[in-house]
This record gives sequence, structure tokens and C-alpha cells, in this order.
Amino acid sequence: MRFANEFLTTRTSAFIVVNSPSDQNSSAAPAHTKPRSRARTGATPMMAQYLKLKEQHSDCLLFYRMGDFYEMFFDDAVAAAAALDITLTKRGQHKGDDIPMCGVPVHAADGYLARLIKQGFRVAICEQMEDPAEAKKRGGSKALVKRDVVRLVTPGTLTEDSLLNARANNYLAALGSAGGEHALAWLDISTGEFYLQCVRPFSPAALAAALARIAPGEILLPEKTYGQGELQIIWDEWPDAAVPLPDSRFDSTNAARRLETLFGVAAMDSFGEFSRAELAAAGALVDYVELTQVGEMPHLSAPRQISAGAIMEIDAATRRNLELSITLSGERKGSLLATIDRTVSGFGARLLAARLNAPLTGLAAINDRLDAVEWFVTDSSARTAVRDGLRKCPDFERALSRVTVNRGGPRDIAAVRDGLIAARDLKGALQIAKAPAPDGISDALGDLSRHDALVDLLGRALADDLPLNSRDGGFIAEGYSPPLDELKQLGGESRQLMASLEAKYKDQTGAETLKIKNNNVLGYFIEVSARQSEKLGEDFIHRQTMANAVRFSSPELADLARRISESGDRALAMELEIFQELAAAVTAKGTTISLEASALAALDVAAAGAELATEQNFCRPEVVDGTEFNIVQGRHPVVEAALGEGQQTAFVANDCNLDGDRRIWLVTGPNMAGKSTFLRQNALIAILAQIGSFVPAEQAQIGVIDRLFSRVGAADDLARGRSTFMVEMVETASILNQASDRSFVILDEIGRGTATFDGLSIAWAAVEHLHEKNRCRALFATHYHELVALTNQLDALKPFTMRVKEWEGDVIFLHEIAAGAADRSYGIHVAKLAGLPAEVIARAEQVLATLERSEQSGGITRLADDLPLFAAMADTPKPANSGPSPIDDALKEANPDDMSPRDALEFLYHLKKISIEQD
Ligand code: ATP
Repeated sequence: MRFANEFLTTRTSAFIVVNSPSDQNSSAAPAHTKPRSRARTGATPMMAQYLKLKEQHSDCLLFYRMGDFYEMFFDDAVAAAAALDITLTKRGQHKGDDIPMCGVPVHAADGYLARLIKQGFRVAICEQMEDPAEAKKRGGSKALVKRDVVRLVTPGTLTEDSLLNARANNYLAALGSAGGEHALAWLDISTGEFYLQCVRPFSPAALAAALARIAPGEILLPEKTYGQGELQIIWDEWPDAAVPLPDSRFDSTNAARRLETLFGVAAMDSFGEFSRAELAAAGALVDYVELTQVGEMPHLSAPRQISAGAIMEIDAATRRNLELSITLSGERKGSLLATIDRTVSGFGARLLAARLNAPLTGLAAINDRLDAVEWFVTDSSARTAVRDGLRKCPDFERALSRVTVNRGGPRDIAAVRDGLIAARDLKGALQIAKAPAPDGISDALGDLSRHDALVDLLGRALADDLPLNSRDGGFIAEGYSPPLDELKQLGGESRQLMASLEAKYKDQTGAETLKIKNNNVLGYFIEVSARQSEKLGEDFIHRQTMANAVRFSSPELADLARRISESGDRALAMELEIFQELAAAVTAKGTTISLEASALAALDVAAAGAELATEQNFCRPEVVDGTEFNIVQGRHPVVEAALGEGQQTAFVANDCNLDGDRRIWLVTGPNMAGKSTFLRQNALIAILAQIGSFVPAEQAQIGVIDRLFSRVGAADDLARGRSTFMVEMVETASILNQASDRSFVILDEIGRGTATFDGLSIAWAAVEHLHEKNRCRALFATHYHELVALTNQLDALKPFTMRVKEWEGDVIFLHEIAAGAADRSYGIHVAKLAGLPAEVIARAEQVLATLERSEQSGGITRLADDLPLFAAMADTPKPANSGPSPIDDALKEANPDDMSPRDALEFLYHLKKISIEQD
């Protein structure tokens, strides 16, 4: 781990060092992506062209299009070959040195791009801007094809499905600072969502929490905040994503103008009252999108402002520990999101993930969402209709974004058409629902089915079988464009003419092996077997002799071939023109199409929530404006699902009531009894309730939580110079410094990573602080049973314990919480279950018994003296339940006081004999 982190840090610092403030167009460059310092002089024209483009995009790997390949040269080639595990070759020489080269085929470029982006590279795509044939016509066979960079591929600006996770947003974020305030703006270029938020009141912790919520693929930040100062600790958390840019890019006045032009409004006030910091962040964001898309601006929704306090704050550590979207090992499977996700569309899945990242605090909005879920719970046929309809619906939200940045193909346009048709059908199906729809549903329905004319146009225009790429042609339906049909007919007829010509030549020459064929090198040609080639007379022009065949052409064939090719070219040009018209028609309706996608996403999430609630027996929580927290028979959704999968024991539901004078629960109990599970399940239930989901319980009443904190688990953070105990203390400090009376805190052990008395003292003081100062709702699990004494002094602190049963020397975990305190932890029992060696367990039991005795007799300092050494113990293991041995019996009967020295010696011989017999 340490190595990996250092590696990342080193790459980032290289990224920064080479970034010069005067470089307005490029952000920062990994050193290895810069071409070696070779002068452009003496380069071939092509190499000169390459070097010029590379110089303009020194922070990126340059994918330089040559025919069917994207080639890379110099250090780019070395870095990419290593990153992609592809062969590094060379091509010619530059200033006396071989030029390293590697390449990837254009048709498979997406896969390679995805791998490069994942490894933190940025890639500039340089295309041929003209047909090489054009270049030849212009300047002869050595003419240089015009090339230019058409796009920068960076982690936060991806649009291709193959580069994106269909079920998660991919945000590009920017930090703006002005007038003493800091704000974030973030957008998903693949869906057009655009948000702004002022981080108020500002603290590095609040900014870090907001970024953890957004989880951007790339963060643009002013250079002044990088490399020093209080924010550096945040950028260290995002080594691959942080992109420092010149401070001038974050100017709020320019930004306001820029945004007004983009959204076609006289003033940004029409979207809300934005602070200068918000405008600065949004302006930098929009500039960067334009830069990376090289002028093609994607469709962006009007910016939505997230107001202060509108979202339950969850810091990065809590998010991680509660495994909301990914598990601690970095996988989606096993997370809360994966367990509750029943959505059937990509946009629905993305909305659910976004909601889970940002639980609400506003009662009205939470209840709107809950109403929608409840409506689908009650009306199962409406639920089925929506889910069936959505299963047929393509991810047209992302297809729309590709169309708007001029990167869409015929299938993207068809996806928009099919999405809009699915939306129309779904609206029709829901209109016959039994009960009147709540606001959330009827608002969504109101946004659907507003594009009949466009659906009709696309329906008429597109053929059934569509190529991926518009340049492949053949995607316009017959009957849509009479001139195109005419051209195609000509092409078809020409092909018939070719068949007739073949028949005529066969007839004329008597060569029955004669065929007219076509390849990329010769175009159309006449082929006959070598034996029959003599039969073709003067009229035929020899082109090529093969092993068994000879190839010819004829003026008549050349003429026909030219006519076919011309009509094909003209038909393709016409199709591309129609494609542009269709794309323009779609783009013109971008805003309302994207509203339809959002409406469908909301319906999907509500119906999926109802499906989950019905299937898993979740209840509607009552979210109220107080500090209640009363869960009846709550369950941990992920542990319950895992137990269900393994067909092991059923999950045991538990109540949790933190109302009034029982605000803080001190939970003691044996190891493995279910304390952590209980703590976490209540935190997860609160999150689910505030995202507007039903919850795994029989009843739940929750006063809105402003912030959720957790201190659970123990892991070090060596990369940031923090030991396990330090991490534990940093998390505890964050809770004690920030939790308010509306917060909810779970603390699973504190003070375990240090000496017993230090740890106990810290835990003791922390409980007092939570009770007296923070006054929040809290669950505090501990093995320091001494803390139970505090429950007599602190009114709102109540002792609870996880019940166990002892049976025939074994401990049975009941996983039930009950009032009271545990008297022991049964740690040794759990150690035995875990397979510690028998002699270690026996020794530990002995130490424990002595410790307990010493504690009762007032001190444990003589522990080491009182106990025989481990070695002595280990030499004479006593099998459990074996009963007294003959040696024990003999020793018990012997009375040393009555023995003479000779008796004693004889007794010793006797014992030795028994011992030998035993062996
Ligand atoms: P420790 O003190 O050792 O950390 P713990 O008391 O926190 O232990 P958990 O980690 O919560 O115990 O639970 C241990 C295991 O017990 C879980 O992995 C789960 O399989 C099972 N378990 C916990 N709670 C329940 C429950 N309510 N119903 C059924 N099984 C449960």
C-alpha cells in the first residue's frame, strides 16, 4: 500500500512541477509525457507536425492518427507501451536517434483509452482532418495529411459508454474562491447535470466532506490552493484527480459573462442567487469543458444550487466505514448501494447512487420521495408496468450527451428515439393506475411524452439495422429521402450492371472461370484462372499475375466502377448530411429530452424502492422535525442479505430508542455478539430514511439528522503518516468538535489502540463530552466495562448489552440487545473459535483468572510473579476434559511432610515410572 501511495504522490508532483503558470492552455504534465528535448529542426514534415501538436498538448499522451491506428512516439510511446503492455517499436530516426513508437488500432481505441485514463493519463486525440486522397490530390504522393487535436480525454470529461460506469455519475468538479468564500461546481458531461454549492461555513473538513460526497473523477483547483496551505491535505486525498490550473481561470467576473452566454440569459440571477465563489468555480468548469471538447459544448442543464444544510453531511471516513457505495476493499458488491439497488435502467441506478451519496435534510422533499415509493408499494401493477417499460428503455441520457458533442452515431440517435417512445408508453401505462399519483410521480409524468414530432421524425428516418459509426452509412430508412433513395438505386443498379458485364465477358471470351472482383488495392478487376488467361484478348489490360490466376481491367469496367463509387460516395455524403440534421433536431430539444430522462430516473428509483420494500419487508419511516430516534425491530440490510445468501441463521432484529433521556446508549457485550452490526444498522437506517427510501424495520421514527459521524474499524494511514491510533483519534476529534444536538454518532470502540488506562480515560472523557457538550444521539460500543459506572451519573446515558447464553462451556450469541451491562467479553472464547493454538488459549485462561483475582485483591502488579512461565505451561499441556492423571492422583495422596529423604527419592522414581508407562 505504501508503495502504491508513494507512487501516486510522486506522479502527481511531477504533474505539478512542469506546470508553468504562464501556460494558459495546459494544466499540468506528467514529466514522462513530454517529448525529449529535441529541436523540431531536421524533422520530417510529418514529425514536425507531430512535435508541434505535442508541444501544444504537453500534459497529454498524444494519440496521433495514421490510417487505422493511433500512433504514439518518443516518451509517450515508452509510457503508453508500459502502461498498456503493448509492443514498443521504432519508426525512423530523429536527430540521429531511433524514434520509439507504439500504436493502438482505432477500432479498439476505447478499451486502451479506458486503461490509460484509469492509470491517471490524459490523452489528446489527434485526427486526420482530410482524406489522404485529398492530400495527395493537393500536394502529390508525399503530401502531408492535415491533422488536428479534436478532443482531450480526461478522467472527468468522458462520454463513451465503454469508458464510463453505466450505474454511476462521473463528475468534473471545480473549486472557486472569492470574497473570502469557497464554492464547488460540478457537472457530469455525460448527462448534462450541473450543480453549484457554497461550502458554508467553510472549513477544510467541510470541503473534504463535500468532495467525498461528489466523488469527482477530476477536480480543477486554483494553483494558489495547491502545494501549500491548509487545503493541501485535501488534495493529497485526491492524488489522481486534482488538476491545478492558473488562478486567472477562476475569475468570477469573466465567469458570470461566460455562463450567461452559455445559458443564453441576461444575468445568472435567473437561475438563483450565486456567490462570486460559485460563479468562479462554474466558469472554470465550463472553460475546461470547452477546452477538452475542443469547442464542442455538450448540453448542460441549468445549474442547480445546493443550499447550505440541505444535505446530511457525512465525512469521508464515515462514508468509507459504512461502506455506502463501495466496500472497504473497493468493490460495489457488498456495499449498501449494491444491496438496495433494484433499479432497471442506467439513469435510475445513477440517480439512486447520487441520492445515497447525499441524503436530504428537508422534510418536504424526503416525504415527496417516500410518497412516491409508497404509491408503487400500494399499486403493484403500476410498479410492474414502470419496471417492464424501463427495461426496454436504452440509456438515452448518455446517448443525448454524445450527440450534442458531435460524437454520437446512428445508434445514439436511435437510443434517443427509443427512450422517448418508452417514456410515452410508460406514461400511458401509468395513466390507468388505481390511486391518484402523489406530486413526485405526477411531476415526473408531466415531463414525459413531449416529443411526438421528434419521435415521428426519427422513426421515419432511421433504418432497422444501424451501424455504430455514421461514416459506415446505410442507416437512413428507405422512403425517408427520395434523392437518397435514387442514389442508392443507382448504386444497386450499377451492381446489377457489374453482374451483367461479368456474364457478357464470360460469353465473349469463353473463359468460364472469369469473375469480376473487388479489393482495396486494385478496386474492381477481372480475374481468370492462369490456364484461361490466354482467352482474354487485346481489349483487356493486364494488372497482376498471381500463382493460379491473372487479373485484368477494361475501360468499360473502369467506367462502371467509377459510377458505382461515385454514387456510393454521394449517397454516403447525403446520409451524413441527413445525420447532421437529425443530430441538430435532437440537440435542439436537448433540455426537454434530458428532463424526460430525469423523470424516468425518478420513476425507476421510486418503483425500485417499492420493489425492495416489498421483497425485503421494509417499512415507511416517519421522518420528523425533532430529535427522535425510535427504531422498532431494525435490521442491517447488508448483513441480513449475506446471512440469507449463505442460508445460515436468520438475522435477529433489534429495537433502538434514543428518545429524550436515553439519548446515548453505552453498548457492552462479548466479542462477536453483534455490537458493530447494531451500531451500523441504525446509521444505515437513518441514511435510507433521509434519501426517501423505506427502511429495514417494523417501524421507524427519525428526527432529521444534520450530520452523521462514525468512528468504527481500525486501519492505519501510513501514507499520510498516521498510525492506527492516530487515525482513531483524528476521527474522534472530528466528532467531538463538530457533532450538534441534531447529529447522530456511532462510536465503535475508542481508545483501544493505546495503553489500557490511557484508552479508558479517553473513552471516559469522550462519553462525558458527547453527553454534556455535543448532546447528540449516539451509540457507543465498548469493551471497557468500567464505563458502565458513568450511567449512574449521566442522565441520558443508558447501558445496553448484547445478550449471550452460556451452555455446556460454550457461548451462544443471541444477537439481541437488552438493557443492562455485560460483565465480561468472552474474548478468549472467540479467540478459541478463531483457532488460536490450544496452549495459548489455556495460558490466556490462566492469565485471565489471575488477573481477575488480582483485581479483586486490589492490584495486578505481581501478575508476572504469580504465574508460572509460559514455557513451563506449554511443556505440560493438559488436554481439556481429560480428568485427573495417575500422576495427579499419586501427588494428591502423597504427604511430603511424612516422607523421609529415601521415601521422597522412591516417590520420585514411582512418578517417573508412571510417566514412562503413560507415554
Ligand atoms: P467485536 O466486539 O468482536 O467487534 P461485535 O460485537 O461488534 O464484535 P459484530 O461484528 O457486530 O460483533 O457481529 C459479528 C457477527 O455476528 C456478524 O458478522 C454477523 O454475522 C453476526 N451478527 C451480528 N448481528 C447479528 C444479528 N442481529 N443477527 C444475526 N447475526 C448477527
